[in-house]
Amino acid sequence: MKKRVRFYYLTFKAIQNLQNNIMRHLLILLSCSLFLACTPSDKQNSNERLEYAIAIHGGAGVISKDLPADVRDGYLSSLEAALTIGRDHLESGGSSLDAVEKVVQFLEEDPRFNAGRGAVYTNEARHELDASIMDGSTLSAGAVAGVTTVKSPIQLARMVMEKSRHVLMAGPGAESFADEMGVDRVDNSYFNTANRRRQLDRLQETSANLSEEQLYSDKSWQMGTVGAVALDKNGNLAAATSTGGMTNKRFGRVGDSPIIGAGNYANNATCAISATGTGEEFIRHAVAFQISAIMEYTGASLQDAADQVINGKLQPNDGGIIGVSHTGEIAMVFNSPGMFRGAADASGKFEVKIWED
Ligand code: ASP
Repeated sequence: MKKRVRFYYLTFKAIQNLQNNIMRHLLILLSCSLFLACTPSDKQNSNERLEYAIAIHGGAGVISKDLPADVRDGYLSSLEAALTIGRDHLESGGSSLDAVEKVVQFLEEDPRFNAGRGAVYTNEARHELDASIMDGSTLSAGAVAGVTTVKSPIQLARMVMEKSRHVLMAGPGAESFADEMGVDRVDNSYFNTANRRRQLDRLQETSANLSEEQLYSDKSWQMGTVGAVALDKNGNLAAATSTGGMTNKRFGRVGDSPIIGAGNYANNATCAISATGTGEEFIRHAVAFQISAIMEYTGASLQDAADQVINGKLQPNDGGIIGVSHTGEIAMVFNSPGMFRGAADASGKFEVKIWED
C-alpha cells in the first residue's frame, strides 16, 4: 500500500511540472480517479492475512474466581509457556501442524490439565485417553480413542494421520499401532494424580442417589482438556485436541475430542477449531465443522460463526471453542464461567486468560 501511494505521489509531481496547462489539469484528474479506483477499500484491507496466529486452551467449565492465587498463577504460567512454544515456532517459519502438536504435547505433560498425565479417571478408576489432529491444507486427519498406555496420545494421532490410511483408531488396535510406530507406552498409573483421584472419589460418594443427568449437569469436575489451533506463514491451518474425557465416565465412552468435525477441525478455506466441554453435546451439534460450514456458506466471520453455535445451539455451561481463521482472526468463545486459554499473533498480541474480560 505504501509503495502504491509513493508511486502515485511521484507521478502527480511529474505531471505538475508539465508546461501545458490543459494537459496538466487533464492528467491530474485522470491520475486522481485512477488512484481512487485502484486503492483497496478498508473492507478489503481487513481481509489481509496476518502472518501467523495461534490460540490454545486448557479446558472450560466452572472455574471458581476464589482459586488460590498460587494455583491460578500456576495455570497462567503453564499456559504462557505453552503459548510461547507455539508462537516461537510459528514466528521462525515452522508449520502450524508442528506448532499445535508441540503445544498439546507440552500440556499433556502438565498434570494440571486433563490430558496425558493428570487425566481424569473412568468409573473403573483407570484412564482412557482420546486425541485428534487435523491438517487444514489437505483435510488429512488422525485420531485415537480409548488408549490407556500411550504416553502422548496426540503424537499417536499424528502417526495415524501420516503413517496409516485410517483416520480413527481405538483401544488395543491403536496401542499395537503405537508399538509399530515406536511411540512411547507407559503403565496406566503413569497418568495418576491425587487431585483427579479425589475428584473421582468425591463424585462416586455423592453420585449414588443422582440420576445420570444430574450427575452430568455439574461441570465443575470435568475441565482440563487441552487444544491448540494455528495459522502459519504459508497460510496453512491446523488443529489438535487431547483429553482424558469426563470424570467417572463409563469405561469405553468416547467424547468429542477424537471426533473430526465435533471437537476438532481444520480447513484452510475457513478456520481451525478445538473444542472443550460436554463431549456428547459437541458431537450432536457437530460443533467444530458447523462453525467452519457457517463461515463457508454464509461468509460470516469466525467470531460470528462461533457465537451462533456456542451461544445459539448449545446449552449454557456446555463449554467452548478456540479458533483461528484463514486470515488470522482469533476467536475464543465459551458459555461456561471460565476457560483456560491463550492467544498470540504476528501483530504482537500475546495473552493468557481464565475468566471473561
Ligand atoms: N470434551 C471432553 C469430552 O467430552 C471433555 C472436556 O473438554 O472437558 O471428552
